[in-house]
Amino acid sequence: MNRLTFAAVADDDTGASDLAGMLADQNLRTLLVIDLPTVEQFANWSDGYQAVVMAEGTRNLTPDAARERTQGAMRLLESKHPRTFQIKYCSTFDSTPEGNIGATIDAALDELNESFTIALPALPVHGRTTYQGYHFVNHQLLSESPMRHHPLTPMTNPNLVELLARQTKRRVGLASHAMVEAGANQLKQSFEDLRSEGINIAIVDCLHEGHLEIICRASADLRLITGSSAFGIKLPALWRERGWLNVERHNQDSSIIKTNDSGCLIIAGSCSEATRAQNEWLQSRGASVLNIHPRQLLNGDLNKTNLKAQIHGQLAAGRHFLLTTTATTAQVRAVQEWGLSNALTIPALGQSIANALADLVFEVIDDSSIGGLIVAGGETSGAVCRRLEMGALRVGRNIEPGVPLCFSLGRFQMPIVLKSGNFGKNDFYGKALKAITHAAAYMI
Ligand code: ADP
Repeated sequence: MNRLTFAAVADDDTGASDLAGMLADQNLRTLLVIDLPTVEQFANWSDGYQAVVMAEGTRNLTPDAARERTQGAMRLLESKHPRTFQIKYCSTFDSTPEGNIGATIDAALDELNESFTIALPALPVHGRTTYQGYHFVNHQLLSESPMRHHPLTPMTNPNLVELLARQTKRRVGLASHAMVEAGANQLKQSFEDLRSEGINIAIVDCLHEGHLEIICRASADLRLITGSSAFGIKLPALWRERGWLNVERHNQDSSIIKTNDSGCLIIAGSCSEATRAQNEWLQSRGASVLNIHPRQLLNGDLNKTNLKAQIHGQLAAGRHFLLTTTATTAQVRAVQEWGLSNALTIPALGQSIANALADLVFEVIDDSSIGGLIVAGGETSGAVCRRLEMGALRVGRNIEPGVPLCFSLGRFQMPIVLKSGNFGKNDFYGKALKAITHAAAYMI
């Protein structure tokens, strides 16, 4: 059995694929595991990989449920003795007020019997930065960014020290900009100083790639790190320097990476500005698009037989098909009000829409050939991955930062792209569709 270098537990599937893609881009053989497999499944799948990222869908769970799930994932991962663990969450710190993030960090520290870790949500390559504990998205405070309108986790407090302190029983502090600017050795000492002052989790300021390099050097010996996918950009080079990467290969036979001439199915449940622009781009390029109103999905008003025949016809002709519930902020609000009047809380409504969309995807895919699948939206991807019993994904290189080309090893073996709602330029789908046709070339 080979030892893992790195193991992470992510709070949603697109976040997991974001981190996994960063690692694969640095030539690490990386596996993305969905949910909690059995011990035997996990041992089989993970053999020969250098990094495993587990997607545990804890973002919208209660703190107790998030803690329990994280503990289960950590126990499986510990069987492969990774040198470094990460709790991965979104670079916009998406969380409910009572929070999954604090609960998952608590669970990991408890499990590893550690007293200190850092929290680095920043991801400069995507314009997510932190200064004096305040978090920014493309130069806007988090609370003034489009994240304030997120359907499930509206982010209205940019002060991360305060926000995280509400989510954990542990003491939260700040590794400030000045500490980071002092360089890696000094920052490492600052972490020790904070630990001896009784701080258990230090939010770390980070404004650019130079800071990221310093932070990764200063934290490379920590048993647990927490934060965004930024670690995946810088840490692999340090592991290589230290000779921490195993060189054995098993299980990574490229002959299983097969593609066909059918069209691809694109599913968009994200209502982010980026996804809305990407949907419009694809439509303007002549792809078939069906925008389904959530009420139709949830009331069972769809004529699924006709719909499936329409989609199958397009896919068989090699044309791509976009199936979406994407809507404007005002439309989302109207749907949420309708949900509330039908006793559906906002999280329950979001989950129901995602599950209904996933059921439809399953029905479409179950009896037709498909070139590949692209899913836009974290929760939407989570629902689709589970409904399609993906199990584990072999992770290839990034199509754009944060979005790798993956290959499903589960029930439906095919190229898959999971995109966080906010990610990608307007023409992202075009790039992803091209990558799908060259899937084998993206594999490590
Ligand atoms: P993102 O990555 O942008 O956060 P998610 O899929 O995680 O995307 O979240 C979007 C949420 O909004 C999901 O729960 C989805 O089911 C829900 N949703 C999708 N379409 C609509 C709509 N038209 N009205 C209300 N909620 C919607």
